[in-house]
Amino acid sequence: MNILIQNVDIITLDDENRILRHAELAVADETIVGVGQPPSCFAPDEVIDGYDHVVLPAFYNAHTHAPMTLERGWAEDLPFDRWLNEKIWAAESALTEEDVYWGAALAACEMIRAGVVGFADHYFWMDQVAQVVSAAGMKALLAWCLFGLGADQEIGGVTLERTLEFAQRWHNTANGRLRVTLGPHSPYMCSDDFLRRVVESAHQHGLGIHLHVAESTDQVKRSLEAHSQTPVAHLAELGVFDARLSTIAAHCIVVNADDVAVLAEKQVKVAHCPKTYLKLAMGMAPLQKFLDAGVEVALGTDGPASNNDLNLLEVMRLAGLYQKNDQLRSEALPHTDLLRLATQAGARALGFDRVGVIAPGQRADLILFNTDRPHWMPRHDLEASIVYAAHPSDITHVMCDGRWLLRDGVLITLDEERIRHEAEQRAFRMVGTPLRQVRTYRG
Ligand SMILES: [Zn+2]
Repeated sequence: MNILIQNVDIITLDDENRILRHAELAVADETIVGVGQPPSCFAPDEVIDGYDHVVLPAFYNAHTHAPMTLERGWAEDLPFDRWLNEKIWAAESALTEEDVYWGAALAACEMIRAGVVGFADHYFWMDQVAQVVSAAGMKALLAWCLFGLGADQEIGGVTLERTLEFAQRWHNTANGRLRVTLGPHSPYMCSDDFLRRVVESAHQHGLGIHLHVAESTDQVKRSLEAHSQTPVAHLAELGVFDARLSTIAAHCIVVNADDVAVLAEKQVKVAHCPKTYLKLAMGMAPLQKFLDAGVEVALGTDGPASNNDLNLLEVMRLAGLYQKNDQLRSEALPHTDLLRLATQAGARALGFDRVGVIAPGQRADLILFNTDRPHWMPRHDLEASIVYAAHPSDITHVMCDGRWLLRDGVLITLDEERIRHEAEQRAFRMVGTPLRQVRTYRG
């Protein structure tokens, strides 16, 4: 399928950071083939009028728990330990496998509408999420979350072996849009023995690791008591940060200078989720220190039970605004850097290549914003408008690997009306069931 977008403004995010006005963008199958003008003899099957629109590389969400849309608004204004123990790890005692499908489908609708084409997910019954990603036409790096406390304490009674079977079923499927990684919950929930088994399995099966790291001073204190090491140093010693595993370490909020150096040296991908940190009053990860040290940081929404949405535009905005104010330095985190974190860095963290730049030969993962709205006027600086002013509802078109997921404001691959209804009914049923706390979080 050949698609031509005419008369559109293009934010390329290439090395020269070129912005083209009233240009043309040509896509053949999954690949961008012309930027500025189409190649000669390009015969489009579809022509889109891009007037009053700006196109840029699509967003990638580096850490979420998509099916937790079902718990959105159900655990509000609580400290982290009570949020987990009393609400989240209670609701999940009533979670069914089919709930995961509908929760993930709702998340997919929401992410596509917010310009996100790829996400790193960390949850349970991940075959269901894989089905959703496959049908939605999105990209994902999926991790089946395990606590390593024994099958009787895992959601669905799964074992590491079962999650390896899941990986075999889905890794590198859906035309390469679906990738799988291993998902131990965290060093504070998982034993050293279990983490060592995960590392060994990851090497054996050519998979990576995605886990939660250093979310509070209490977690660091407990790690120092138990291992005489910070969580980062301890995970490095266990092999979890072996560079061959492309590990995603979500959060890393409480880290010292040595930890930052380890994260940089081991090429760990740190998923930075500032909206969750602000809302759960967790403190703020040292984003600027990470970037200065060369740590590979990407942006994540975290789950909608803490966020409460999957809007990476807002995450990008908060990441920048917080740093500027914290450093009392408005030059910190310039808007182009923020756009690159939400696009290129996210794609790299998830392991997808040839995306994040609008250039010939790149895969066509694109978002179009309608700029003909009051909060875009006057259009002096399109990048700044996206980072500081745009709304997800300005997004009219989203494309992943050359296929429309959203066109003229309509979701193409998902039945949004049915999904909204099913997900809400299931969420009400879940929290209306007698709940029991499934495990305990101790700071
Ligand atoms: Zn998380």
